[in-house]
Amino acid sequence: MRVSVDAAGNLRGTYSGESAAGERLLIGSHLDAVPYAGPYDGVLGVVLAIALIESLDGRRFPFEIEIVGFSEESGRRFGAAFLGSRALVGRIDEQLLATKDDDDITLGEALVKFGLDPSSLPEALLTPDAFAFLEFHIERGPVLESQHKPLGVVEAIVGRSRFTVEFIGEPSNSGTTPMNLRRDALTGAAEWIGMVEQEARSVNGLFATVEKVEVFPGATGVIPSNVTMSVDMRHHSDKTLNGTIARLLEKARHVAQKRRLRFDFHRNADHQAVAMDAGLLHIAERALRLAGCPSARFVSGYGHDAMILAEKIPSALIFVRSPDGLSQHPGMQLNSADIDLALASGVHFLNEICGFTKKTNISAYA
Ligand SMILES: [Zn+2]
Repeated sequence: MRVSVDAAGNLRGTYSGESAAGERLLIGSHLDAVPYAGPYDGVLGVVLAIALIESLDGRRFPFEIEIVGFSEESGRRFGAAFLGSRALVGRIDEQLLATKDDDDITLGEALVKFGLDPSSLPEALLTPDAFAFLEFHIERGPVLESQHKPLGVVEAIVGRSRFTVEFIGEPSNSGTTPMNLRRDALTGAAEWIGMVEQEARSVNGLFATVEKVEVFPGATGVIPSNVTMSVDMRHHSDKTLNGTIARLLEKARHVAQKRRLRFDFHRNADHQAVAMDAGLLHIAERALRLAGCPSARFVSGYGHDAMILAEKIPSALIFVRSPDGLSQHPGMQLNSADIDLALASGVHFLNEICGFTKKTNISAYA
């Protein structure tokens, strides 16, 4: 393979096709890792891609294969995630380059310090011959394990909304204020938290978490006057997600009214759901079937590089089972039999995609 490092620090290796004029398939994942999250996050997808090339034993395809080890996905250092894959779709701008880490070093400075030249970032862009992207990633969750399946194909990455809800009452004495005269913000919040859980259980595929609760004044002998909660909600349909949030806010208003509280709401961040390419999903599922894997389609509860590449080219994401369903855990392991199946699926994927080396062809194959 011809190996290079691009201006965003992505490690890229190209395996030539049968002819020099062909299209290009990208395969990869990220090289960075979250501390204490085990050894397989990201790098599994890079090593699997390289092992896949190795297993071809020199066999060539009508297209080039480019392996990409994305330099940064987790967003730990600069608070912005997917820096590696963003470089390929042209989403590293001046503002992002000026973002500072905890030591006041900008992203641009960090790239230079590593021997890279940010002015060459345009050279990292996807070229028009790139027709599809495939990512293997360990599942950071228990779904495949619970279904006793080695591999799964991701059909969508959830949309995510994070917001803050506040109930405001009045502080008063716990010993002298009769129950019917209280304006207790915490009992209001508690009632609403129960509703969030109930709603999440009743909507298929919804994740809703009240992550943090701050109670003020939080003092002995005082009825709480303010409760601030941060909430994280996710669903693969933006419409369902927004509809559920609207319903829960209506319930919060109702709780506040009933308990003579004030209610406040701030939306902190929104990420829209990303559907993976339906045609490529079909090809990936076929590859899994041919490798002898039972079909497993599901929704990813968090973002991946494939989600960024999907902005420009048909992208597929295949999850490899995490034994015991561990996620963000230093003890994460892999079954070697699952890796064999992933490799076999990769070879079938390459065979299957041979007839679809144009973006439009792939997307139409649903
Ligand atoms: Zn990852």
